[in-house]
Amino acid sequence: MVYNRDMEKKLSIIVPCFNEEAALPYFYAEVKKYVGTIDHEIIVVDDGSKDDTVGTALKLKEDDPNIVIISFSRNFGKEAAILAGLKEAKGELVVLMDADLQDPPKLLPQMIAILETQAYDSVATYRVSRKGEPKIRSFFARMFYKLINRMIDVEIVDGARDYRMMKREMVEAILSLGEYHRFSKGIFAWVGFKTKYLEFENVERVAGETKWSFWKLFKYAIDGIVGFTTAPLRIATFVGAIISLFGFVYMLYIAFKAIFFGDPVAGFPSLVVIITLIGGIELLILGIIGEYLARTYMETKKRPVYIIRKRY
Ligand code: UDP
Ligand code: MG
Repeated sequence: MVYNRDMEKKLSIIVPCFNEEAALPYFYAEVKKYVGTIDHEIIVVDDGSKDDTVGTALKLKEDDPNIVIISFSRNFGKEAAILAGLKEAKGELVVLMDADLQDPPKLLPQMIAILETQAYDSVATYRVSRKGEPKIRSFFARMFYKLINRMIDVEIVDGARDYRMMKREMVEAILSLGEYHRFSKGIFAWVGFKTKYLEFENVERVAGETKWSFWKLFKYAIDGIVGFTTAPLRIATFVGAIISLFGFVYMLYIAFKAIFFGDPVAGFPSLVVIITLIGGIELLILGIIGEYLARTYMETKKRPVYIIRKRY
């Protein structure tokens, strides 16, 4: 394996931050407890925060040269921040963590030990409970995992977090995927490698608030499905075939009825129902095709996934 840079550190900790000025100091203090003795770097990726996340990080950096800050020119989303962090990381081991302490730092020593002593390339985590999360959100999240796992070839663990430590080989594999629409949960599964899963109880955010609205999560779910499988297109073909068959049988029935029993004008309600139903299905399928087309369009533009305003 040829690395595209010198490995200068033992561990790189990547923290995507969007408006995390309140949580960052807690995060920093807690993480330091567990990695203080290890040769490490903390890469704070400021994803276009509107608050003073950069200032807070800079203050921490004054006393700790192991902090690297990358600040985006605007909010590009967590996936973009993860990518920027992975590109920047100089560690043999790389770990992704949320800034809000929902990814417990106390697992870090255990993760390092597993990667050093056992034949795994990555240690990932998942939540065994969704305590403290709105019920409706948990419900849709569960549905999403069921649905996506039916459709894609690789498996995404329900409740899996982005909190994961990887060896260099796996990081390079992830970086070799050049797609614009990045769905990390799918990418981690897609690149393969041997992964050990650790479980933990859900923890609530230490400060600040969640950046994920229901609508954002919905878009994220669509990104995941469209990015990793073309099954919806096949389903569209299948639905089309079924409806055509139904239409054909119905046509025979009407013809038969007209020939043998005459054809009094009737059935206006059924006509309306059929037209609206089929119209709806057609639009839905067009929408599905559109999703794929739009993504093809965006990918062909080859725009950068993020733009760095300043690097500290
Ligand atoms: N985040 C980000 N860019 C965004 C949204 C979120 O970098 O556009 C970061 C955020 O600062 C946090 C992590 O991604 O460190 C997870 O976000 P959050 O805690 O809001 O998500 P939740 O835990 O509620 O799913
Ligand atoms: Mg969180």
